[in-house]
Amino acid sequence: MSILSWHRPTWDAQFATGRVPASLLLSGARGSGVKEFGMAVAAALLCATPTTQGMACGTCDDCRWTAAGRHPDLLLLGEVAVPDADKEDDAPKEQEDPEKPREKEKHLIPVNDIRSVIAFFQVTPNRERARVVVMAPAEWMNPAAANSLLKVLEEPPPRAHLVLVSHTPARLPATVRSRCVSVRLPKPSSAEAQVWLEDQGVRAPGLVLHQLGGSPLAHTELRETYWDARSRLLPLVSENPARRRSAELLGLADSIELGDAHRLLHTWCADLLGSTCGLPARYHPDFQPALDKLAPATPRKRLLSYESRLRASRRWLDHPLNPKLAVEDLLLGYLAIFEGA
Ligand SMILES: [Zn+2]
Repeated sequence: MSILSWHRPTWDAQFATGRVPASLLLSGARGSGVKEFGMAVAAALLCATPTTQGMACGTCDDCRWTAAGRHPDLLLLGEVAVPDADKEDDAPKEQEDPEKPREKEKHLIPVNDIRSVIAFFQVTPNRERARVVVMAPAEWMNPAAANSLLKVLEEPPPRAHLVLVSHTPARLPATVRSRCVSVRLPKPSSAEAQVWLEDQGVRAPGLVLHQLGGSPLAHTELRETYWDARSRLLPLVSENPARRRSAELLGLADSIELGDAHRLLHTWCADLLGSTCGLPARYHPDFQPALDKLAPATPRKRLLSYESRLRASRRWLDHPLNPKLAVEDLLLGYLAIFEGA
């Protein structure tokens, strides 16, 4: 459970003493490592031989159990309770608006889970150090759950630590936020994120980081199919509308996955919208010249309404009736932007 380089100053300033508040609210952008920081805090609290900087040693039995999510004094709730949830998820994550949760993420922490937190804190630590609950993301709590949590926040039992991780703390009730010590974690600079991606063996880290809107830890979302789809789709959507190979573009519906098509079209349209205002590409900088050429030929109003259609279609992305038809529909919608223009 090492600390990411861009979080090191925060750790040194607030956690190096080994004193951790009973109720902690960690916040920061999705994919920037907030969840990992929360787990590092938990590991440090449970470690038998923490370092002089107050960090977990990483080698004792407690650290091994924490890393495996199986420490008897650790309770994980939300996304952290399913370590591979990100990898199994085919759908694209939020990009233009990372502050907005996806439909299926809502209310995944019910009031029963909070009852188990209360019961968990009533038991004396097995390993004599602390009882730690990590909840990530905390905004997954439904209102009844948040309400029951107040009891714990008001009177935390001795040696009980609640670590809330949130990408959108504003979505948590003020009553919860005000009872926690809040720590806002920074996003990495582009250079820091690229170094980190390189260390993970990611090829073309600069381009990968652009696709992720600057959040490096989300890199596992981009699978081989994405890059293959990107290399075939973007050259076709970027063509001059008058000379566009529409049949070839629609033919991609047979071989491109819905999640990849949606993510690519959405980020492409965001870049194209930006180009119509003279802004540089955020996601596909390698297509900047094509974007600049296409922007003047793009009816902005139609592009905007297509973009909001893409936003709305996120809802059925996980369960489309017919994925191939859904891709075709997205592509037809894109072509319609330029019809008669
Ligand atoms: Zn340890």
